[in-house]
Amino acid sequence: MHELGVVFYVIRDVKKVAKENQVESIESVTLEIGEVSGVVHEYLIDCWNWAVKKEPMMDHAKLKIEMIPALTYCEDCKGTYKTVRYAKICPYCQSEHTYLIQGNEFNIKEMEVT
Ligand SMILES: [Zn+2]
Repeated sequence: MHELGVVFYVIRDVKKVAKENQVESIESVTLEIGEVSGVVHEYLIDCWNWAVKKEPMMDHAKLKIEMIPALTYCEDCKGTYKTVRYAKICPYCQSEHTYLIQGNEFNIKEMEVT
């Protein structure tokens, strides 16, 4: 995922919600990001700090990130395991019939306003 594109997308969404709710300034925005979504948190925060300076409504808004751990489900043994550690092969039964059940999320969870 391209971090700067993500930041512009989030800013656009936040501004839309702020406008609808007659919010004057935004203190912080919390994102939920899956562990394997491909977003690098440090880059995201750098891009954010650069991009919000151009936005009068949110030029001091902080970006908070909550990570959602990646989990994979095995169809053969019905087990669930940590994706980052074992990837596609189930550690219980060595099956490859597995799929990601969480960890690819990208959500705006909440925003703090004044
Ligand atoms: Zn299994």
